[in-house]
Amino acid sequence: MQKLDFVYQARAGRVIFGPGSLGHLEREVLNLKSERALILCSAEQKQTGEAVAARLGSRAAAVFDRAVMHVPVELAKEARALARELHADCAIAVGGGSTVGLGKAIALESDLPILAIPTTYAGSEMTPIFGITEAGLKRTGVDLRVLPKTVIYDPTLTTSLPVEMSVTSGINAIAHAAEGLYSKDANPVTSLMAEEGIAALVRAIPGIVAEPADIEARSHALYGAWLCGTVLGSVGMALHHKLCHTLGGSFNLPHAQTHTIVLSHALAYNRDAAPEAMKRIARALGSEDAAVGLYQLAKKNGAPTALKDIGMRAEDVEKAADIAIANSYWNPRPVEREAIFALLRDAYEGVAPR
Ligand code: NAD
Repeated sequence: MQKLDFVYQARAGRVIFGPGSLGHLEREVLNLKSERALILCSAEQKQTGEAVAARLGSRAAAVFDRAVMHVPVELAKEARALARELHADCAIAVGGGSTVGLGKAIALESDLPILAIPTTYAGSEMTPIFGITEAGLKRTGVDLRVLPKTVIYDPTLTTSLPVEMSVTSGINAIAHAAEGLYSKDANPVTSLMAEEGIAALVRAIPGIVAEPADIEARSHALYGAWLCGTVLGSVGMALHHKLCHTLGGSFNLPHAQTHTIVLSHALAYNRDAAPEAMKRIARALGSEDAAVGLYQLAKKNGAPTALKDIGMRAEDVEKAADIAIANSYWNPRPVEREAIFALLRDAYEGVAPR
């Protein structure tokens, strides 16, 4: 029998889930006692931002449609100043992790409640983790003020997410759950969420590839993303997230694709050090082996498998290994320079995990 000895930290937050749940937006804004909401979105999702504003009528103060990757500090300051000027008493972030990240940066220094409407599977809406980029350096931190008070998960908003981004964003979510299962503070509750989250995404992804507008598949993917995001917000991550943070931050590689490529190799690296977690990841994947199952999931569904195909340069592999081992962090298997270099070289070439 498994030894039971753990800490479980629940995070407050209200979740409204289901196709068409955006219809409850006004009720949820009122529930936050908000009179004027500032709506945040990216330039690409301007129409979605405007549609959200239209639903709120006079309760919409403005649409700020300039959210971008990595949350530049100047942009966060500008959005915060606009919220103040318009007397906004709530910010609504509709979009992916970048837009939710902008909302978090506003909340960090203003206490404005955030209502998030995620349209990818990144999971940021479920975490108290923020990231802000200043003078080229991304600073991350944890602060409960940035955790959205309410999250509306409406799968109909995700049908426009391009298929490749849907697959890689889904595997990005799986990465949170996989590392959550072998986290140093893993606990029975988050482990249940993690296994179910992976299974939900695994059953959804082929359906989305076959028919991007399949609402059932989209619903299962978003449900999985919620569970995986909750795991990310509750327990510490390890090698995989550290590597992806290094690759994204230092070499500007795209977030979800990088996670997709690195994950199977990180799982192979930790295979022997976390056998119970690997068993559960493999079971959720319907595979004999967690690392191989993950690699096949990506490959079968047309996701990239090599870092060299998403903009990494050969000469940066060694540099990335050096950065990744520079600061120590917890991982089930000790982090060793040569083994990390080999892992990154495999990910660079796109070979199957060892
Ligand atoms: P993203 O938010 O950068 O979105 C990528 C692109 O897809 C954008 O142009 C966006 O407008 C577009 N898009 C999003 N949803 C769409 C939809 N339904 N239809 C059409 N286009 C759509 O990408 P992401 O992967 O969601 O987020 C990545 C960022 O989030 C990274 O910076 C990462 O560090 C951060 N993140 C933070 C946390 C956290 O806990 N703090 C967790 C996960 C990710």
